[in-house]
Amino acid sequence: MDFALNEEQRHWQMKARKFAEEEIRPISLARDAIEDPSETFTWDIIKKGSKLGFRTMAVPKEYGGHGTDYVSQALVMAELARGDSAISKTFSQCWKWSHLIAAVCSDEQKDRFLKPFIEDDTYVLGKGGTEPTAGSDNRLPPPDDPKAGHKLRAERHGDEWILNGEKTFIANGSIAKLFFLDVRTNPNVSVKEGSTLFMVTRDTPGFRHGKVFNKRGWRFYQNAELIFENARVPHANVVGEVNGGGKKPGAAGDTSGGDIFGDLELAANALGVCESACELAMQHARTHKQGGRPLVEQQLVLLKLNRMYMLTEALRSFVLRVAWEHDMKIHSANAGLAMNFSEEAIQTVTELGLEIFGAAGGVTSPEAEKLVRDSLIWTHLAGDNVQRMRVSQRLVRMAEAIERKARETIPELTAAE
Ligand SMILES: Cc1cc2nc3c(=O)[nH]c(=O)nc-3n(C[C@H](O)[C@H](O)[C@H](O)COP(=O)(O)OP(=O)(O)OC[C@H]3O[C@@H](n4cnc5c(N)ncnc54)[C@H](O)[C@@H]3O)c2cc1C
Repeated sequence: MDFALNEEQRHWQMKARKFAEEEIRPISLARDAIEDPSETFTWDIIKKGSKLGFRTMAVPKEYGGHGTDYVSQALVMAELARGDSAISKTFSQCWKWSHLIAAVCSDEQKDRFLKPFIEDDTYVLGKGGTEPTAGSDNRLPPPDDPKAGHKLRAERHGDEWILNGEKTFIANGSIAKLFFLDVRTNPNVSVKEGSTLFMVTRDTPGFRHGKVFNKRGWRFYQNAELIFENARVPHANVVGEVNGGGKKPGAAGDTSGGDIFGDLELAANALGVCESACELAMQHARTHKQGGRPLVEQQLVLLKLNRMYMLTEALRSFVLRVAWEHDMKIHSANAGLAMNFSEEAIQTVTELGLEIFGAAGGVTSPEAEKLVRDSLIWTHLAGDNVQRMRVSQRLVRMAEAIERKARETIPELTAAE
């Protein structure tokens, strides 16, 4: 097995490391400490990162992007997250949706949306699925209940659709120029049969963002409500088929874009946070003295460091393997499993890190405490029951497929029954 990075992967890794150290880290704590959640964000860091390619790296070269492979993307996410996990996510949130435009949109849509995305350093993307009464339902859509799942309604009037309803918790909600939206185009059937993916620009008449949420962690990241009051969206902004439902691009299980990015990005981002926690804890344990001796001479502290490094290295191996598998077009449930694992890793590692700081962690050394707050985001996004069920269902489907294949290639198996 060859674990070496190629020249291009190393180049992206080093560029991201330098940017994280010189530009992100110096602003991370100060941004996190701003009280008003809509003020924690700054365009300055996004513009600088965009000029280095961190916003557009997932777009294929033929459309003006950098066409990076998944290994490079995982390396960059982790490096940027070492500087600040939420700033890293603001960039990577653009990757899966810009990649999706390139993968599934019509040429006319690519022309209208990819061009400005590439050219404008402030063109950021978002995706709206969640609503006040539809969160988990959207991830594991109940098969045949019309009442379940998202309800943002669209009705067709000639060449336009009129949208009414709202989305909530939407990432980049107050800053994105373009959103992918899960919209109900037939409320009388299940979401699998009656929903459609739309692209909606910020300047759409009747659309505005509402409150920006005041989160404990990832404070730089702008999660907001999206409000639609007779919003008028051209039919030309429909992605794929009307009522494409469960088969719509970017839906769970679709390998053309959204799914792998979402899973891999959380795991890779967690890796950066874990690295940061290890680095901080090691530095503190080597330099802080108790009873006349540095903390690293205390066996219990060493055991904590051991667990932190062990989980971090296990996560690194998992993340890079998943990224490599997807570059090799080997699709499995591993990206989902890595995402689930990243929740356990990041929360254990950051909490052990905070323990090593003792009281200072929450008082005079806020870095360690910030990492714990950031890690709590993984509970909702990576490791709750629904995310684990979604991945487990995929494992079952794969086991069934393997069995079917075996029966096709070894007919005696079927004959013996
Ligand atoms: C930082 C952040 C960024 C986000 N960004 C976006 C975004 O960009 N776009 C977007 O659309 N959404 C976004 N979300 C929302 C996120 O997708 C939802 O929080 C998630 O889908 C869970 O929905 P919910 O919070 O409504 O919880 P609920 O669905 O109300 O679930 C509450 C609890 O019940 C459990 N539960 C619910 N149903 C089941 C079930 N059938 N079986 C077992 N357990 C169940 C869940 O596991 C959870 O523990 C974001 C959230 C956060 C925190």
